[in-house]
Amino acid sequence: MFLKLIYFVFMLSFSVCALAKPLIIAHRGASGYIPEHTLPALAYAYAAGADYIEQDLVLSKDDQLVVLHDIHLDTVSNVAQVFPSRRRSDGRFYAIDFTLAELKQLHLHERTNLKGEAVFKNRYQANTEFKITTFAEQIAFIAQLNRQTGRKVGLYPEIKSPFWHKEQGKDISKAVIKVLRQHNLDKVDAEIYVQCFDFNEVKRLKNELNLKAKLVLLIGENSWQESDTDYDFLRTPAGLKQVAKVTQFIGPRIEHLIDFNSGQITDFAKSAKALNLKIHPYTHRVETLPVNLSQNDMFDVLVYQIEINGLFTDFTDKFFKYLSAQENK
Ligand code: CA
Repeated sequence: MFLKLIYFVFMLSFSVCALAKPLIIAHRGASGYIPEHTLPALAYAYAAGADYIEQDLVLSKDDQLVVLHDIHLDTVSNVAQVFPSRRRSDGRFYAIDFTLAELKQLHLHERTNLKGEAVFKNRYQANTEFKITTFAEQIAFIAQLNRQTGRKVGLYPEIKSPFWHKEQGKDISKAVIKVLRQHNLDKVDAEIYVQCFDFNEVKRLKNELNLKAKLVLLIGENSWQESDTDYDFLRTPAGLKQVAKVTQFIGPRIEHLIDFNSGQITDFAKSAKALNLKIHPYTHRVETLPVNLSQNDMFDVLVYQIEINGLFTDFTDKFFKYLSAQENK
C-alpha cells in the first residue's frame, strides 16, 4: 500500500514537472513533404524547427559517402532509365556500382515499391530534378544555415549495412569517421549522433575505431535481416544490459515502446527507462499511427509517460507544433 502511494505521488509529480523537451530528429529531412535526403527536404526540416537532421550513408564505387537510405537505387531514382545496363544479376541497381559523377546524373523522386508505385501516395509526386548529395555537402549546407541563423542544428548520420559494405570490400565505418574528423565532428560534445543497426559494428566503432561522437544503437526486427544482430534478445532486460555497457542511446521502433493495438507502454520501454537509457524512437509518420491513438495522443504517451529523449519524424513541423503547444501550456 505504502509503495503504491509512493508510486502515485511519483507519477503525479511526473505529470506536472516541466517538459524535458525531446529532440526533433528530421528523418531523412522533411521526408513527409519532399523526397527523402534531398537538399530541399533538408532545408524544409531546418526551417520547420528540427534539432537534428538525419543522413543515411552508403558508399559509392569511388568511396564517396552519399546520402541514400538504401544500398539500392531503384526505388528512389531514375537509374533504370539512365543506366539500363547496370543491373546486377538480381535485377537491382546498387549505389556502390556507380561513381559519384554517375550518381550525380540521376534524379531522385518520392519512394516507390519495385513496381514503381508510390509508397505514400499523398506525398510529393511531381517529376522534379532532385539530386543525390554527399555527406560532406549536407554537412556544409547545415553549417552555412547555422552560421547565418545562430542555431545549432545537428547531424544524425546512419552507417548503413556495414557488414554488406565489408563483403563488397569497403569499410564504411572508417570512411564515416574520416569525414567526421575532417570536419572536427568526432567529439562527444559535437552536435552529432552516429547511429547503426549492427550491434557488433557499434561495439567496433567505440572500442576499435575509437569514435568519440555520441553513438546510437538502432533496434529493429530480426525479420528485416538488417544485420545479424539478435534484436529479440536485445529487447529483453538481459539484452538491454548488454547494450547499456556500450552506449546509453538507443533507437527502437515506436512500436517497441507502445503496443499499437492497446496503446499501452511495453515492458521493453519500462526496462529501457529503468536502465536510464536515452531513447530516440523511430518513426513518426501521419500515415502509420497506432490503431487507437491520435497523433497527439501518441506524442503524449511518448513525451510524458515514456519521456523519450528524441523522436525521428518524417513531419518535423507537426512534432515541433506539438512541443511548442506543450511549452505554452
Ligand atoms: Ca535511417
